[in-house]
Amino acid sequence: MALGYDAMMKRVALLLLVLLSCSPTHAEWYIQSEAIMGTPIHVELWSHSEKLSKTCTRQVMQEMRRIDSLMSPYKPESELAILNAKASQQTIKISPELFKLIERSMHLSELSDGAFDITFASIGYQYDYRKSQKPSDQQIQTQLDRINYLHIILDKKASTVRFAKQGVRIDLGGIAKGYAVDNGIRIIKDCGIKQALISAGGDSRIIGDRKGRPWMTGIRDPRKKDKSILVIPLSDTAVSTSGDYERYFIKDGVRYHHILSPKTGKSVSKTRSVTVLGPDAVTTDGLSTTLFVLGAAKGLALAERLEGIDAVIIDAAGKIHYSSGLMPPSQAKKTNPPASIR
Ligand code: ADP
Ligand code: MG
Repeated sequence: MALGYDAMMKRVALLLLVLLSCSPTHAEWYIQSEAIMGTPIHVELWSHSEKLSKTCTRQVMQEMRRIDSLMSPYKPESELAILNAKASQQTIKISPELFKLIERSMHLSELSDGAFDITFASIGYQYDYRKSQKPSDQQIQTQLDRINYLHIILDKKASTVRFAKQGVRIDLGGIAKGYAVDNGIRIIKDCGIKQALISAGGDSRIIGDRKGRPWMTGIRDPRKKDKSILVIPLSDTAVSTSGDYERYFIKDGVRYHHILSPKTGKSVSKTRSVTVLGPDAVTTDGLSTTLFVLGAAKGLALAERLEGIDAVIIDAAGKIHYSSGLMPPSQAKKTNPPASIR
């Protein structure tokens, strides 16, 4: 049977397709996890070269360790610990990197009317969630005025910091992991890798997709460890979750957890979890903590004001609140003109 030209070309194309899809491919997912910064760090990437995957993943892990040794409040030799020990007595020169992250944190404080405040640590360091320890109400009352981001005096030109009050401490736990994830993603991109996910505990960033399909990211039920209440398909985005189940203990029926209200020095009780989607992980990490402190109504109002930001907030009653970008188009409406977060 003679085939017409068109039919023959169709067959050739079909054959090529079959051959291509059968041809052996050496590209594969490279997956590695390590515990750094007190958190599981997870890197997953797609590459044709195992050697490249290994080298780049090692560089990412090294970067996480570097940031930890710079910003850990628990390592006495970290730049942050030295700053905390001295900045109430004298002006301290710090690295541009630490300076920028403190500046970024203070921008979030301004945006949120002080809900995000890295001086929470002035009281926060007295909580030990593993040992079920907390400061007494009296301790909190006498020290509460140490929490105020306006006590941090920055001099950008000189790259210096001074605390305006005795006893002020800072902690970047609400934003540093997102920063570390972003730096990891920069390393992966510089390696020429186009599809990857990096997560540090509750902070993740994805570049590309998962081989033509989105990554399925679950939001866990805050009260049931192995149950997701929502699964969101994601690609090319960052996502952070803050929850009252991460570090906590329960005493006399009260849940004491690691996200504190700067106004009271106590754990925030009106929220169970917040998930924020956005362009990069330093933004989503900082905002997930911020929205957690603000609660559903004010938190969603802030998310609506910010360009490229979406949020899912689970309140103290277990009710799920969504920002308009995650709602069906008929219910969605952005009211205020978007503001920039970066
Ligand atoms: P994690 O991923 O560790 O659960 P989150 O992004 O949820 O972190 O932020 C919680 C951390 O943020 C706390 O462990 C603490 O270091 C810091 N933090 C707690 N309360 C505040 C606050 N009001 N403002 C800024 N940072 C805070
Ligand atoms: Mg956070």
